[in-house]
Amino acid sequence: METGTVHFETWVPTGGFKLERRKGKTPEGTVITTDWLVPAWASDDLAATYPCDEQPCLHRVLADYRHDRIVYLAGLYGLLTATGKTLPPEPVDTWHREIRALRNATALWDAIAAEDAAALRRILPQYQAAKGKDLLGLAREHLARRVTEKLAGGRLELIAMPDQEQSQFVIRHRPLKLIDAIWRRFAEEIAGLITCARCPVPGCGRWFP
Ligand SMILES: [Zn+2]
Repeated sequence: METGTVHFETWVPTGGFKLERRKGKTPEGTVITTDWLVPAWASDDLAATYPCDEQPCLHRVLADYRHDRIVYLAGLYGLLTATGKTLPPEPVDTWHREIRALRNATALWDAIAAEDAAALRRILPQYQAAKGKDLLGLAREHLARRVTEKLAGGRLELIAMPDQEQSQFVIRHRPLKLIDAIWRRFAEEIAGLITCARCPVPGCGRWFP
């Protein structure tokens, strides 16, 4: 079964986004005064992008992203919580929260992969008493639970493959929002379906699959 991230599509205004400070209702229903990502130009054309195809390690990119460059990233890959071609204003706080969550989960995953017990005790102080293999097991369960909570969005679809593979149907789980696709990508890395490495050239640090 495909996890559907590579084919996941978002829509981006050709002129990109800008920040607009005002009061408004968040997707979670609370009213706050904050910066909102809105299309830079009203009634701009929209272009389709395939974020996980263009940047397979987007979860890694976002995990160490600088907050002052969110507008730029949204312009490349789209809003985190929009569905389809509708682009309701998105509070920049949503980005801050998801970046923080990705950063924490990434630190945990990297410590697990490196079997770094000292780092694990620092990241998971509640497991401080655990020793050796137990600690690693607890950390793995903790990470699995935390990422699973983020995988709730999306739906299972049966797809009739186009032309060249006429007789084929595939089952694919389609993410509904970019943030769903990003967490799914992270789950794919943890499960060993994809690998992400960082360019070792000093000053580069670019992520590649
Ligand atoms: Zn490089």
